[in-house]
Amino acid sequence: MSELIKRLANLSPEQRQLLLRRLAEQEQKAAVPADREWPVRDPSQPTLLSFAQQQLWFGEQLDPGNSLNNLMGLVHITGRLDVAILEKSFNAIVARHEALRTVFSERDGQPVQIISSSLTLKVAMTDLCSIPEAEHEAEIRRLAKEEGSQPFDLSSGPLIRVRLLKLGEQSHVLALTVHHIVFDGVSQAVLFGELAAFYDAFLKGKTPALPPLPIQYADYAHWQRQQFQGEALENQLAYWKEKLRGPPPMVELQTDRPRPAVQTSRGSYLPVELPHPLCEALVALSRQEGATLFMTLMAALKTLMFRYTQQTDVTTGYLTAGRSRREVEGLIGFFINTLALRVDLSGAPTFRELLARTRVASMEAFSHQELPFDHLVNALQLERDLSRSPLFQVMFIHQPGSNAGLQFSGLSLRSMNIRTEVSRFDITLTLHDTEKGTVEGAWEYNTDLFDASTIARLAAHYERLLQAIVAHPEQRITELPLMMEEERRRVLVEWNDTRKDFPLHQSVTELFEAQVRRTPKAVAVSSSKGKRTYEELSREVARLAARLRERGVGTESVVALLMDRSLEFLTSMLAVFKAGGAYLPLDAEHPPQRIAQILERSGAVGVLVSKEWQEGLANALALLAPGARPAEWSVEALLQQDGPVAELAAPRPEHLAYVIFTSGSTGLPKGAMLEHRGMLNHLFAKVEALGLTSADVVAQTASQCFDISVWQFLAALLVGGQVHIIENEVAHEPRPLLERLVESGTSILETVPSLLRAVLDELEGPEGGPLALSVLRWLIPTGEALPPELCRRWLARYPGIPVMNAYGPTECSDDVTHHPISTPPGSEVVRMPIGRAVANMRMYVVDRQLRPVPLGAPGELCVGGVGVGRGYLRDPARTAEVFVPDPFSGEPSARLYRTGDLVRQLPGGELEFLGRIDHQVKV
Ligand code: AMP
Ligand code: MG
Repeated sequence: MSELIKRLANLSPEQRQLLLRRLAEQEQKAAVPADREWPVRDPSQPTLLSFAQQQLWFGEQLDPGNSLNNLMGLVHITGRLDVAILEKSFNAIVARHEALRTVFSERDGQPVQIISSSLTLKVAMTDLCSIPEAEHEAEIRRLAKEEGSQPFDLSSGPLIRVRLLKLGEQSHVLALTVHHIVFDGVSQAVLFGELAAFYDAFLKGKTPALPPLPIQYADYAHWQRQQFQGEALENQLAYWKEKLRGPPPMVELQTDRPRPAVQTSRGSYLPVELPHPLCEALVALSRQEGATLFMTLMAALKTLMFRYTQQTDVTTGYLTAGRSRREVEGLIGFFINTLALRVDLSGAPTFRELLARTRVASMEAFSHQELPFDHLVNALQLERDLSRSPLFQVMFIHQPGSNAGLQFSGLSLRSMNIRTEVSRFDITLTLHDTEKGTVEGAWEYNTDLFDASTIARLAAHYERLLQAIVAHPEQRITELPLMMEEERRRVLVEWNDTRKDFPLHQSVTELFEAQVRRTPKAVAVSSSKGKRTYEELSREVARLAARLRERGVGTESVVALLMDRSLEFLTSMLAVFKAGGAYLPLDAEHPPQRIAQILERSGAVGVLVSKEWQEGLANALALLAPGARPAEWSVEALLQQDGPVAELAAPRPEHLAYVIFTSGSTGLPKGAMLEHRGMLNHLFAKVEALGLTSADVVAQTASQCFDISVWQFLAALLVGGQVHIIENEVAHEPRPLLERLVESGTSILETVPSLLRAVLDELEGPEGGPLALSVLRWLIPTGEALPPELCRRWLARYPGIPVMNAYGPTECSDDVTHHPISTPPGSEVVRMPIGRAVANMRMYVVDRQLRPVPLGAPGELCVGGVGVGRGYLRDPARTAEVFVPDPFSGEPSARLYRTGDLVRQLPGGELEFLGRIDHQVKV
């Protein structure tokens, strides 16, 4: 250690202090092996490579001529620089360190180090004096990039390059490029320390008095190979195998683009600087908790990963200097080793507890730090996954203040940040302490995975989290705030400020009747079987409603409808509403068992059935106990019967409107109960979003058992438009459907993406040809994720017919988000957003405890607002599971519906559907 201090005597006091502190930390923590004799190396024999070198060498053989392992530094030098002496000093360093004179070759199938006895380095000069000063910066960056990206030849060397960019008489930039195989971060500190010593001495015409190096890098490599075999190797391996058993799960950060099948290294970086008071507080907290600043920053990074992914088993990478033996401290060479730090974040620990866990984990890891990382990876026999780096995807590096300045012989040296364009991992956070007492560094990230804005948000969240940690280290990591106040407000309040004064106090039947008075002669509904004007429809509705009233149907009575989608179906829906009841659609194609089961569970008072399904109904009813059978009413018969007009009770907003049974994951059907206000709100939302008018013809294509059928049947009737019912044989077949759209003058078509694909295939197929859909105004894909490609194809063919991605669960009165699209998405677009909340609905992206996740991070979509349904019919247990108290609305009775859908929110507020929570899609 004393050697090192002497050698680094010329470092600035702050830098020296930092370096020493770091080394002291390491010494304390690491089990430094007692000084033993170094095994003697036969200098006449070529030496094998250290393990780390060997791994790099193999990599280089597989991908020769890459510059990924080039380390580059830019140092601005002010003062009167003697270039000849600088060159002489560099050569003295090269003469002193064998590593810088080493090349690599192959003997008997093994890579070996070949050390030249001498090597003369030339400092290349580039004069930028003639370039205007304003352009210096750009030119330096350009040259640095050029310099840094020039590959080294490991077999011929030299593996170090020095270029001096002259900006003026007293201003130079030193560009140092070295291959990682002979260099690392500490090497750089050693190199500049020695450079100072040599330069100073040579300038004064003296012989520099640096103590001789006790060993050379090749001795270390030789020692390492002897050390890591047999028991020593087994011991370390056993430790790591136990620690990384499983193996640890990947940290599934949501990427902005799909992960390429083979990991790429295209990258960029975002500089960060933590403010001084925060750094002071972090240091104080670390001290108080008996931890190092590294551990605190690391624990905070893990917390951030947890909050972004909800994963409690988080493994991140970090680097150790790998110089635990004192003889290697002053060497230039590749010592650095990678460690995988696995910490358990489960059980909602406080930050203090997590820090304690992190401290234990890193101290343990540190005392097993010598096992070369690649050795470990090989030994773990991980499943090969070329798309990501093994064991961890996020790296954290906390360096000694390598950015600090250095002053000697009238020169002042200052490191310049380099904008790297490579990223070895998905994300690397590099931080170092500065002379100013701050911590600064950069987030390096893979640009094939992440957008700059995503990383900027991540960085802001990290800082916010650190602020919260120093303020409240006793807070649970699940609770620590990481969103900025302004972001929280935007996400929770602003984007949910969807209030619209729709007349929800009215009933759909009143609104329909009002329309009947406005446009009695207009066609309200049509199908291949006929049509009805508003007046005709209204008359039939009134008659059927009266008959239902006579049969006891009233507020909240459930009436099942067993008939095809038809004019009668619409009449029945409206008649049930007018009688005050709620309708329950049945699918006549369903087996009698299912129909019986639904009837039993629903407690329906009666079934309105059409002629052709009477037999089917009889089969289903036969399965029920006589007492449990609902009444059976022939719709045709009731429509024929005259009688007094009954006293009708207009439904109130909070009355039940319909019950739709969905399969439910357990197989037992669940009856979602929806109220008038929710249904009406959705109808108005559709009218508004689509700009529906009396000129519109809305295609009714969906099964009456799907929620989307509700608005398809009813929305047009609020504005004097027409519903056109398309029977199944036509609705699900591309060619007949297209023909029908033209014939019927359909202006609004809703379809699942799979049918849209079939339609596009048909249009683009041999029989295709141009088909004018001159009156179609909107295409509404819904029900499942909309592939961008379909959007692109549709808009290429029909640029004037926009697409509206619509998303919504049955339990929330159908669509809760809309996303209109009129320009084709670019080829880089991976997912089409589902959009933003419709009127009077609120969207929350939350974690398991219903806390908002950071913007951009995946979470479960929870829906609030007037459309949230009443729950599941006669199923309080399943209702309580997914209809939960709404913590955001401030209204005690408000509830949220947990959709079970994984989404994320984009910076503009649009939501993106990522998959179901239980089978989360990987991108
Ligand atoms: P349902 O209750 O039948 O309306 O189904 C609702 C579910 O379908 C949602 O919870 C989503 O899982 C899925 N879904 C509906 N619309 C979309 C859409 N536009 N994009 C992606 N998934 C959708
Ligand atoms: Mg839906």
